[in-house]
Amino acid sequence: MSVLDEKVQDLYEEVVARNPGEVEFHQAAREVFDSLGLVLAKYPHYADAGIIERLCEPERQIIFRVPWVDDNGQVRINRGFRVEFNSALGPYKGGLRFHPSVYLGVVKFLGFEQIFKNALTGLPIGGGKGGSDFDPKGRSEGEIMRFCQSFMTELYRHIGEYTDVPAGDIGVGGREIGYLFGQYKRITNRYESGVLTGKGLSWGGSQVRPEATGYGAVFFVQEMLTAAGESVEGKRVVVSGSGNVAIHAIDKIHQLGGTVVACSDSGGYVVDEAGIDLELLKEIKDVRRGRIGEYADARSSAHLGEPGSSIWQVPTDVALPCATQNELNDQDAKFLISNGCRAVAEGANMPATPDAIKAFAQAGVLFAPGKAANAGGVATSALEMQQNASRDSWSFEHTEQRLQKIMRGIHNTCLQTADEYGAPGDYVLGANIAGFTQVADAMLALGVI
Ligand code: GLU
Repeated sequence: MSVLDEKVQDLYEEVVARNPGEVEFHQAAREVFDSLGLVLAKYPHYADAGIIERLCEPERQIIFRVPWVDDNGQVRINRGFRVEFNSALGPYKGGLRFHPSVYLGVVKFLGFEQIFKNALTGLPIGGGKGGSDFDPKGRSEGEIMRFCQSFMTELYRHIGEYTDVPAGDIGVGGREIGYLFGQYKRITNRYESGVLTGKGLSWGGSQVRPEATGYGAVFFVQEMLTAAGESVEGKRVVVSGSGNVAIHAIDKIHQLGGTVVACSDSGGYVVDEAGIDLELLKEIKDVRRGRIGEYADARSSAHLGEPGSSIWQVPTDVALPCATQNELNDQDAKFLISNGCRAVAEGANMPATPDAIKAFAQAGVLFAPGKAANAGGVATSALEMQQNASRDSWSFEHTEQRLQKIMRGIHNTCLQTADEYGAPGDYVLGANIAGFTQVADAMLALGVI
């Protein structure tokens, strides 16, 4: 280990000691730190200015009580979070996640990732994340609305178009953004469109925002395959998840001539050799808010995966983990590799474990980390902010072209940076270093703040 790698190791240990028990945050920090030894060797001034220490300490962390009344008249209490991580490049930007697994460590891992992801887009947005341990599953429309209103009754004082701009994530889609925006507008008496993104089209939203994360991930895959002399056309693809990211990734893969043969939800996975029927999947997931098993029941070409088995055992050319963190481990990676998988792109945030990523690298599988591959969502949020600021609204075609161009830019930046640091084809290293230097340079320019 070189002296500088030791310095990075010390910094990592400091992060663990300062943030006890926040294992997801430790993992996200470690993944970035693993790439930074090379940067510090080349540019020691980042270390001298304490950039890494500053990056690991959020600028502000807000934790609050969210009281609400359920349909039986019972008072319920959840915990709300907003971690405003870094505003060197612009207002804090990042989604809100409503899921029972949410606690400070999850919000911090997501917020930390968001800093570098947002920097990679090249757009003026800082990094932040928030959410609640509220479980929307099985809750009525009225309960969801009252929860969102209570959540915003505290959050409104911390956000604003120049301060902090939340959006959706797991458990927060257009419906929730609507209730949150309504409450913000009511409390502040301001129609401040730029305070939230992921809004509906008729009230300040952007075309392509719902599709953007999934479409963007597939655009990234397309760039990776093109750089390797291949294309999406004719490829077998497995997409985990069946939420917003997965659904639009499946849509774009099919548009480009690939076939998605499997998808999943928390209850299991479904294999459909004829190709996933997107209309049916949307009907089950978006309209009925049902389970993936209903898909298998409705299609003769489909069957449910064996209980206890993993979706990554389904042979595929391309794998898109689009569900949640740490859903693809080294065992899964081994299945994918031995079945001939050639490319993996993270549609979700940190879905592959560090051991899985290592296995892909050793086997020469193209691997795109989430902070590059799933940046299309937040990039299109920044385009929504642009439209709001200019009181304009762009066409679907124009917005999609902008998204595609941004994804191509991120792809090329990652590849060029990896080349520059002597690791050709290493998208993880390229994304970490390019994201880091972009934020670090801005932080240096702004002084010790
Ligand atoms: N939650 C998304 C992400 O992980 C989007 C955030 C946003 O649009 O602000 O990047």
